[in-house]
Amino acid sequence: MVRLNEIRAGEVAVEPPAPTDAGLVFIGRIRTPWSSRLDCPRQGRIDGPTCRIEIFQPWVPALAGIQAFGRLEVLYWLHESRRDLVRQSPANDGTTRGTFALRSPVRPNPIGTSLVGLVAVDGATLLVRGLDCLDGTPLIDLKPDRSLFTPLAPPQPGDFEVGDAV
Ligand code: SAM
Repeated sequence: MVRLNEIRAGEVAVEPPAPTDAGLVFIGRIRTPWSSRLDCPRQGRIDGPTCRIEIFQPWVPALAGIQAFGRLEVLYWLHESRRDLVRQSPANDGTTRGTFALRSPVRPNPIGTSLVGLVAVDGATLLVRGLDCLDGTPLIDLKPDRSLFTPLAPPQPGDFEVGDAV
């Protein structure tokens, strides 16, 4: 069951600290077919509807080279989420699990991530498949899928370290 900010049986809310400015800037906006949380997919699927990611200025030049990657990691701000639950009941059946053991949109910093297929780049707009967010969701970041990405910078010592850390 999708929540619309209600608290369910067994769930635990806390008084969160006053928000501080982490210095985020929204770099764009995501356009999807879903205007209600009740209709969004719970997780995007790579064969899902094509969605549009609109990049704001002055960030458009940061798209240079992105067309080389067939899959991208998209980070977005689930702006309609409540942020104060530490235990949640996704099935709304009285059983609960800790927020950090879930991919629920309800979290202290409501960051969503999806791996999407890149369909096309058209100026400041990307067409992608695999999203699960509301139309108008603010965009935080885009990166190539790490499995497709080889660092361009030279290696450094930590790259060769293996074994147990303290
Ligand atoms: N794929 C992301 C992840 O795993 O980090 C998000 C998963 S979250 C379970 C997806 C759900 O968040 C959707 O089904 C919808 O109910 C809700 N949602 C989508 N966009 C939202 C928004 N802008 N604000 C609040 N909730 C949103």
